Amino acid sequence: AKYQGKNDFRIYHSLSDEKSFKRLTIEKDIHTVLENNQLEVYYQPQYETNTGSILGVEALVRWNHPEFGLVSPGEFIPLAEATGHIFAINEWVLEQACKQLKDWHKLGYKMKVAVNISPQQFYHKNDLVLKVKEVLHQYDLDPSYLVIEITEAIAINNMDIAIDKLYELKELGVLIALDDFGTGYSSLSYLTSLPIDTIKIAKEFIDKIGYGSANEAVLSSLVTLGNALNYIIVIEGVETVTQLNKLNKLNCHLMQGFYFSKPLPVDEINKILQDSALKIH
Ligand code: C2E
Ligand code: CA
Ligand code: CA
Repeated sequence: AKYQGKNDFRIYHSLSDEKSFKRLTIEKDIHTVLENNQLEVYYQPQYETNTGSILGVEALVRWNHPEFGLVSPGEFIPLAEATGHIFAINEWVLEQACKQLKDWHKLGYKMKVAVNISPQQFYHKNDLVLKVKEVLHQYDLDPSYLVIEITEAIAINNMDIAIDKLYELKELGVLIALDDFGTGYSSLSYLTSLPIDTIKIAKEFIDKIGYGSANEAVLSSLVTLGNALNYIIVIEGVETVTQLNKLNKLNCHLMQGFYFSKPLPVDEINKILQDSALKIH
């Protein structure tokens, strides 16, 4: 209520000032984020359900800001999209991830790396396919270890173009994953037209585990559908043992989430890899 007075207003005011200060500073600094070497790729492990081994990681970009510390992609990716810096940033992430993939393969860790592709990057004429091809060649990679993650929205909004581009990517030998699967589209019939290998079931379905059998029925039918279509099924956002126990009863192949590990810098991923005995040679 109003009479609670000035102080509340001041607190609110200064908080919002702080917020817009951060936003403005970030808006200014995004222009130089690459040349100042402030981006870093974190990796979140994906565990095979049956064996518990790490079969892959997802590359997730972070901004080490001198003033604000780690800035999450949720904060700066939209900004990078609005300012056009998204192209350079995404290419940089793709390159880093491929370079890292090569390093892991040299060390004998034959795991996959998944990279997130934004809509602009996917649809830009200045070609994603060419870039992926270049980077695979540059690091002499087996393409079947690179996973390109696209969202449902990317796949559906311009479906004809998307299908062509996905086939071009498939021709390079990379894998395609459909991220945040099951959100926003009432019809799933589009799936059969897309050359995808993996579906990542959206976290919101995992969040609802334990909150009603109807929610769990939806989740289990998505998993059944995915299996019927022969997709690799990744569950992301696993946070609790309750969720894990339910998920173990479904037939999904890979698990990713804070319950297992947060996204981590390379050094820490390497420690985890050393401790687990999945080395191939
Ligand atoms: P996403 O692709 O759906 O990535 C999963 C997000 O969920 C990541 O957030 C990850 O840290 C978080 N996450 C993983 N497990 C859990 C869990 O158990 N609980 C909770 N609460 N969260 C979990 P992050 O790293 O902040 O990334 C957010 C989004 O930003 C990503 O969503 C992706 O859309 C985008 N993004 C991240 N890196 C890149 C990038 O290099 N390029 C592009 N274009 N987008 C990126
Ligand atoms: Ca993703
Ligand atoms: Ca996701």
